[in-house]
Amino acid sequence: PFEVLVIGGGPAGSAAAIYAARKGISTGIAAERFGGQVADTMGIENLISVPYTEGPKLVAAMEQHVKEYDVDIMNLQRAEKLIPASSRGGLHEVSLANGASLKARTLILSTGARWRQLGVPGEEEYRNKGVAYCPHCDGPLFKGKRVAVVGGGNSGVEAAIDLAGIVGHVTLLEFAAELKADEVLQKKLRSLKNVEILTSAQTTEVVGENGKVSGLNYKDRNSSEEHHVALEGVFIQIGLIPNTEWLKGSIELSQHGEIIVDERGETSIPGIFAAGDATTVPYKQIVISMGDGSKAALSAFDFLIRNSAD
Ligand code: FAD
Repeated sequence: PFEVLVIGGGPAGSAAAIYAARKGISTGIAAERFGGQVADTMGIENLISVPYTEGPKLVAAMEQHVKEYDVDIMNLQRAEKLIPASSRGGLHEVSLANGASLKARTLILSTGARWRQLGVPGEEEYRNKGVAYCPHCDGPLFKGKRVAVVGGGNSGVEAAIDLAGIVGHVTLLEFAAELKADEVLQKKLRSLKNVEILTSAQTTEVVGENGKVSGLNYKDRNSSEEHHVALEGVFIQIGLIPNTEWLKGSIELSQHGEIIVDERGETSIPGIFAAGDATTVPYKQIVISMGDGSKAALSAFDFLIRNSAD
């Protein structure tokens, strides 16, 4: 068995594996796809001390850093079930899709999250070419330009307020007849001069020209009329889904499916820690996930020295 087994190989899992291995304890990392969301990212400009990098380059650097240590890397392994230890300090078990199972004294769950897709034509084609999901990451790329935010919940309205300070104009589209965001956010949004709010608006297509987004089509759900908005960017804000379906029933999750952690990264089960986008930790970012993974590994080490088997 491992002393520390990390599930997930994104920024959180990589950081956790490095911190654990540096304590000289047996460490494994199992990931469905090493690199996680970073592998799908183009330009990255907010990893502190690295003014610019690209997703695949950062993934290669993370993997190389993990390989500096004695870490058992199990790539292309999907965890399907968690069987927690029956007593404090006992062995937890994780079943993999390939039928094998792994045992460890502590676990660090860092299976990340995925953005909910709109599922309209053009969304996939123009991803990273005008279609974006993260305003903190990509907002500055649209400085002075016209963008849409799809989604009128808290994250959509927050994104629109944030973007309005950077871009030239924001069109917010909400499918329902009313915005769902908190009133205080809606009030702030309505006070902004360069924001237009469209409700009962069903986004039907992202359109592009020369390989880049050039506009968006939507249907007015009251009149059934089709409309076109010319713009350079579309931010889709209809939800971030944690990859925690496999944990349902075994550890405590929030109403949004996030793994509930305390300030040390510990979950509802002693010896099981979690880090990054899969957890209740606010703000889903690379640098935050890396810090979070390090913290979870230090907490796991602390747990091990206080709960030794013998
Ligand atoms: P992830 O990166 O989601 O990694 C999860 C890991 O768990 C993966 O290895 C995955 O394969 C694995 N996994 C999932 N389920 C299982 C399972 N059942 N069994 C085994 N393994 C599993 N952030 C920034 O800071 N700056 C940016 O510029 C930026 N741009 C972004 C652009 C895009 C297009 C996207 C999608 C995200 C962007 N982000 C950016 C957000 C950032 O990528 C995430 O916050 C960060 O990757 C989260 O790290 P994580 O390790 O928690 O999870």
